[in-house]
Amino acid sequence: MSSSSRPDATFADLGLPVALVQALRNAGIEKPFPIQAATIGDALAGRDVLGRGPTGSGKTLAFGLPMLTRLTGASAKPGRPRGLVLVPTRELATQIERALDEPALALGLRVASVVGGAPIKRQADRLARGVDLLIATPGRLDDLIKQRAADLSDVAITALDEADHMADMGFLPQVTKLLDRTPKAGQRLLFSATLDGDVDKLVKRYMSDPVTHSTAPPAAAVTTMSHHLLYVRDKSVKRAVATEIAARDGLTIMFVRTKHGADRLAKQLRGAGVAAGSLHGGKAQNNRTRTLAAFADGSVPVLVTTDVAARGIHIDGVSLVVHFDPPAEHKAYLHRAGRTARAGEDGVVVTLVTDEERKDVAAMTRKAGVETDGVDVRPGDRQLIAITGARTPSGVAVAAPAAPAQPAPKAGSGNRSRRGRSGGAPASEAARGHSRGSAPHRDRPVGESRGRKPAGTGGHARSGDTPTNSRRRAARPAAPATRRNRTAN
Ligand code: ADP
Ligand code: MG
Repeated sequence: MSSSSRPDATFADLGLPVALVQALRNAGIEKPFPIQAATIGDALAGRDVLGRGPTGSGKTLAFGLPMLTRLTGASAKPGRPRGLVLVPTRELATQIERALDEPALALGLRVASVVGGAPIKRQADRLARGVDLLIATPGRLDDLIKQRAADLSDVAITALDEADHMADMGFLPQVTKLLDRTPKAGQRLLFSATLDGDVDKLVKRYMSDPVTHSTAPPAAAVTTMSHHLLYVRDKSVKRAVATEIAARDGLTIMFVRTKHGADRLAKQLRGAGVAAGSLHGGKAQNNRTRTLAAFADGSVPVLVTTDVAARGIHIDGVSLVVHFDPPAEHKAYLHRAGRTARAGEDGVVVTLVTDEERKDVAAMTRKAGVETDGVDVRPGDRQLIAITGARTPSGVAVAAPAAPAQPAPKAGSGNRSRRGRSGGAPASEAARGHSRGSAPHRDRPVGESRGRKPAGTGGHARSGDTPTNSRRRAARPAAPATRRNRTAN
């Protein structure tokens, strides 16, 4: 059960080393978030920890910082990581690697990620050079073990992020196979916004005397998030409404049920003049990476995706999440919704509901424990505009954001022709001074600065960012002064 948390503790009070605290401060991270204050002490003491905190509450550092601290002072042998983080998606692995990269450096530790869809040889070479903390998707790690490029017998601490998802049928066999290769007495940290019964299978088998810290009500509700059901009568009204929503300012994520549905909706949006990219498991990894980078830097402000992006992904400034297709179950609702209103920001979540879906959606949101209001909407509707910032798209088709990344334009060159194209990744990296590191995924798909902005309008601009499309640029004033640049993300 929850033991005493320390709401006012500093990172140093929690027992983290000075060098680490300093690295966090350099990244603009000054004070522990509640889930961090609750769990870091126990994790540092070597306890097995179950941590449940809402989406966007800072769970990555909650497990990452104590792992790094406990790994300090020794060095991994070739191919034998000493800490392991297992995650469900490639993008999440890369994101966690980035979040922990600087803190690890401050402690003299080496972090790397291994994921599917990237050259395995390079990952094997990386492992051979020695990796203290390895972040991995299960399939690729299994492949590397089979190739004898990785051996888990030195793993002293394992974390499962999105632990309940890792305990789902689709992942469980792979995850148990990997955990069985780590030493029995090793420490285990299981974190998620929704730690439900399924996770018990892993708890029983792999945790000893675990302590549970929960900083969320059972529904994992986020207080800065507002939820609305938009009743759209039928599928054709739904598409028309979605197109107007997509034409809003700010970053918008639209979740759809299938890969094909994602491609189809993104294409429709582009046809109507909205720069939109689709992201799903059927795309090549370099395409996935580019799409996410172009979304994060604002050059393609609408991301149409399947549940592959429902968990863990953090992109600054996502002000609206749209369930274009209702999620399969209430947990998926919460995780999808949790791509907005992160780390204290505001965010709006809308679900497009056709007449025939009304009953199921009502039951699902009730189960999710979120308070919703419902309004009938049609294209051009006043309430639709008030809730989402919807507007009439230009009608002038934009190109698919699939072109390979372009070289960075000179800062201030004002590149109006970039609208609807990707290619922001190297530019944003250069602009943010991210040149260090030999790690493979340096193209930074996640955002890295935040500012307060009104819900429903977004406003994602960052100082030092790549040029975004001209409409978005024209529509907003200079970046607010509250924005901070951070390196850990
Ligand atoms: P979760 O895993 O709980 O969904 P993340 O770990 O992705 O959340 O963190 C969400 C955001 O909060 C990230 O941008 C992260 O850098 C930021 N963050 C985490 N901890 C702190 C902190 N103590 N102070 C300020 N920002 C933080
Ligand atoms: Mg997370």
